Amino acid sequence: MEKIKMITPLVEMDGDEMTRILWKMIKDELILPFVDLKTEYYDLGLPNRDKTNDQVTVDSANATKRLGVAVKCATITPNVQRMSEYNLHEMWKSPNGTIRAMLDGTVFRTPITIPSIHPAVKFWKKPITIARHAYGDVYRDVEIQTTEPGVAKLVFEGVSGKREEMVIHEFKGPGVIEGMHNTDESIRSFAHSCFKYALDVKQTLWFATKDTISKKYDGRFKAIFEEVFQEYKDRFEAAGIEYFYTLIDDAVARVMRSEGGFIWACKNYDGDVMSDMVSTAFGSLAMMTSVLVSPDGKYEYEAAHGTVTRHYYKYLKGEETSTNPMATIFAWSGAFRKRGEMDNLPDLVNYANQLEAACFDTLNEGLTSKDLVNLMEGITPKSLTSLEFLRAIRERLAKRLGA
Ligand code: NAP
Ligand code: MG
Repeated sequence: MEKIKMITPLVEMDGDEMTRILWKMIKDELILPFVDLKTEYYDLGLPNRDKTNDQVTVDSANATKRLGVAVKCATITPNVQRMSEYNLHEMWKSPNGTIRAMLDGTVFRTPITIPSIHPAVKFWKKPITIARHAYGDVYRDVEIQTTEPGVAKLVFEGVSGKREEMVIHEFKGPGVIEGMHNTDESIRSFAHSCFKYALDVKQTLWFATKDTISKKYDGRFKAIFEEVFQEYKDRFEAAGIEYFYTLIDDAVARVMRSEGGFIWACKNYDGDVMSDMVSTAFGSLAMMTSVLVSPDGKYEYEAAHGTVTRHYYKYLKGEETSTNPMATIFAWSGAFRKRGEMDNLPDLVNYANQLEAACFDTLNEGLTSKDLVNLMEGITPKSLTSLEFLRAIRERLAKRLGA
């Protein structure tokens, strides 16, 4: 078989530990035999981030802005223990945080679902994607605890000299006060990313806040979404999808009774909480994909899970591992599909589709990594090592591609 051609390179962001091992295996088994792979390679592994004073992370984000599509391996976010383990010069910031800030992007998380793994919510038939606004609200708050009576006020001093002052509460005794904010600019970026992504995957978009109670704050979110939606309305209609706004408590009730198959955009705190609930209900962190979408339509695909440290230590001792590659493979397939669409390469799009189909073939035959064995029902699963699993997928992919 002639290898599938690419035009524009993908931005390839390599990472750490077990996922770095899987990264190479996936390339060797599932990509390089079939695709004439073009990437611009950035090594975001912790040793190289340390060596380059984290410049490599910034460079990779800039490359994503320039080329439009990136695929990222999981990376270590250093903590005190990692400082000594890797002999670091500094406790470098989370690469995901840096990239997200540079692209001003929103993260969309979608579970990979298969018939033999039943969601905890019996109505759910299709994946639910959570989009979480990643700026402001309680995550950038200021708080005061008072031990005495007194008055708390909200004060705004405009550059024009305009001054607004409101009493929050007159305390008769001890209590707590919290101030938080968001910006029109950040909310608008969030809205653009959500509408773009909904069009991309042709799924209806839900957004919910508590604007009946928080008339100005949450009301601003609702108004900006409504305003930005006007730019997308015609394209939504043409794609046969909807934008749907409701109150957050109504949204929760509807989500529980829904079949799935839509995107649920959440404010920062709601997204933090709901994404953990939704992903747990769908089964496994190892089956959760993630894509960062910028308001101007740049994409960075990755797995939602981390570097699977415990498996890596086993691997270093020479023991067999059975690590689930699914979310990392789907990061690659997502990136290839997007690249293929942008460069008008139907063969590359088809390769992405067949790669995912080969994964489903394998799982539906009960061939899997260890983590899914106890979740599968109505099928007798067989647990494979990391490499055996990838080879089983490769066999099915080759058959599908006629290679
Ligand atoms: P983790 O790597 O996601 O792993 C937590 C546990 O979940 C694993 O020990 C494993 O359970 C299970 N698991 C996760 N992915 C799996 C897979 N593909 N196959 C099989 N089992 C899987 O989270 P962590 O241990 O909290 O974090 C490890 C490192 O990853 C940290 O340094 C953190 O900074 C980093 N991290 C990076 C990202 C990212 O780059 N996006 C995200 C989160 C964390 P068992 O051990 O029970 O098998
Ligand atoms: Mg959380």
